[in-house]
Amino acid sequence: MERITLADSGVETSRIALGTWAIGGRMWGGTDEAESIAAIQAAVEQGVTLIDTAPAYGVGRSEEIIGKALKGGLRAKAEIATKGGLTFVDGKIRRDSSPKRIREEVEESLKRLQTDVIDLYQIHWPDHAVPFAETARALEDLRSAGKIRAIGVSNYSAEQMDEFRKGAELDTVQPPYNLFEREIEADVLPYARHERLTILCYGALCRGMLAGRISAATRFGGDDLRQNDPKFQPPRFANYLAAVEELKTLARDRFDKSLPALAVRWVLDQGRTIALWGARRPDQLAPMAEVDGWRIDAKSMIEIDAILARHVPEPIAPTFMAPPANRPAA
Ligand code: NAP
Repeated sequence: MERITLADSGVETSRIALGTWAIGGRMWGGTDEAESIAAIQAAVEQGVTLIDTAPAYGVGRSEEIIGKALKGGLRAKAEIATKGGLTFVDGKIRRDSSPKRIREEVEESLKRLQTDVIDLYQIHWPDHAVPFAETARALEDLRSAGKIRAIGVSNYSAEQMDEFRKGAELDTVQPPYNLFEREIEADVLPYARHERLTILCYGALCRGMLAGRISAATRFGGDDLRQNDPKFQPPRFANYLAAVEELKTLARDRFDKSLPALAVRWVLDQGRTIALWGARRPDQLAPMAEVDGWRIDAKSMIEIDAILARHVPEPIAPTFMAPPANRPAA
């Protein structure tokens, strides 16, 4: 498994991370704890040592399950990336990156994760009610206190990262990035490359669309968020599925690989990147073994873009996932 150091933090991780939003259950139609624990343990044993989570994933449930899975010897082999800055008040999610709340959240996460240090702590979404540098300074203090080892932000623009960096040494940024969702190429990606930040790309499989097993007959049950994602609804669903079929053929004929391996390789070939792979069952980890040891050549990159331009000329951004924003501080 390829490895990377998170900027200058000294924290080294695998370049594929296990994404555990679905393990939290909420917005993913529920969770199965035993299967989730088996998936986390299998991932670490096969070299996927970075586990990405957040208190928002199942209101703490994802972190609790990770704590159980890593208890004992496995914690020493894994790196945990969690987040803060989203809080549930009366069952409703709201942004709160105040230093006081972040300090409380770090303690709550340490307890749920059954650990004494968080390898990477990220602010989940920008909170305009708190100056970004103030939040950043609180994180730098937590790093000095040995509670966290690296500092990251998620869903921040380049401009917002500039503000944040007035208060802390920023190591990572976590934006959405996959073959279909490429908005960050306009600013976040060039900024992160220039500033030598490590980029944790979420949704590398575009919520399963690029795993290659979803068809027009697929139905999403319970509170599954894909019921609200326009990519998975007519009339756009058919266009995305047509692109998926052509990408699948290219992956097989050109590289003898599966589509998820191609999609994740594509993310890894973009620079100092980590691909987050959302999985909740051990069998979903199998195609990870196909990702290492090859690259997508320049000609194939152009062909991939041509397939996307033909079927999805106007891609839909993942903005439907954003929690309600706070107003700028007066
Ligand atoms: P994703 O990784 O793009 O896709 C996960 C989906 O892929 C699931 O639906 C899963 O299917 C399917 N899948 C995985 N392996 C498969 C396989 N081998 N065969 C068939 N299907 C497979 O989506 P994501 O979970 O939204 O994103 C990944 C991670 O990024 C999250 O878990 C989270 O850690 C992070 N994230 C962060 C943010 C943020 O704001 N910072 C936002 C979103 C996500 P099933 O549904 O059948 O399990």
